[in-house]
Amino acid sequence: MNTDTALAWLRGFAAAVDEHAAALTDLDRPIGDSDHGVNLQRGTRAVLDALDAQAPATPGAVLTTAGSTLVSTVGGASGPLFGTLLRRAGKSLGETGDADAPALAAALRAGLDGVVKLGGAQVGDATLVDALTPAVEALEAGRSVAEAADAAEQGAASTEPLVARKGRASYLGERGAGHRDPGAQSVVLLLRALAAVS
Ligand code: ADP
Ligand code: MG
Repeated sequence: MNTDTALAWLRGFAAAVDEHAAALTDLDRPIGDSDHGVNLQRGTRAVLDALDAQAPATPGAVLTTAGSTLVSTVGGASGPLFGTLLRRAGKSLGETGDADAPALAAALRAGLDGVVKLGGAQVGDATLVDALTPAVEALEAGRSVAEAADAAEQGAASTEPLVARKGRASYLGERGAGHRDPGAQSVVLLLRALAAVS
């Protein structure tokens, strides 16, 4: 992944969030507060502006710029979480101008570790961690980004029967079961956008 690929990834993610904002918000309706799509859309639009204004020169800088922008512009839980994911991943890439597949896998692992440290969720708690973890594991096993995106999709689907143990959805207890976690679905969009430029 070089700087242009990283920029294309985040622009593709922003476009996907725009396209699916209403669907993401619908997922947040029964188990949350109906704002997930709107939250991410506000953040990814600000990311596009920041990338244009700052013209980061390495893939790592693209990701850290995007991550910091999400943290500072999204009010909901998803801003700090997605922001930490991208910021940690960017830091892990360092100054390299072209990250190979193992470096990308290590970067997303660093991002996932940051999300877990910040939010305290483990696999099975019905959060975005349930989609991100299998995707990172697929990349670490040497599988393609498209296969990692498929793994994320399966992880997002796996949240449907679960009772959430973290985030706003956990307030519902057993009544929250039977719904796909919106943040997990956004991780699918992030991985599909990466696959599209890989
Ligand atoms: P809010 O919950 O503040 O309204 P959003 O609706 O934008 O924020 O985002 C909700 C998503 O954030 C959830 O679907 C879940 O994937 C994710 N999330 C919330 N809390 C946590 C946490 N502690 N760890 C991991 N992910 C979390
Ligand atoms: Mg919400």
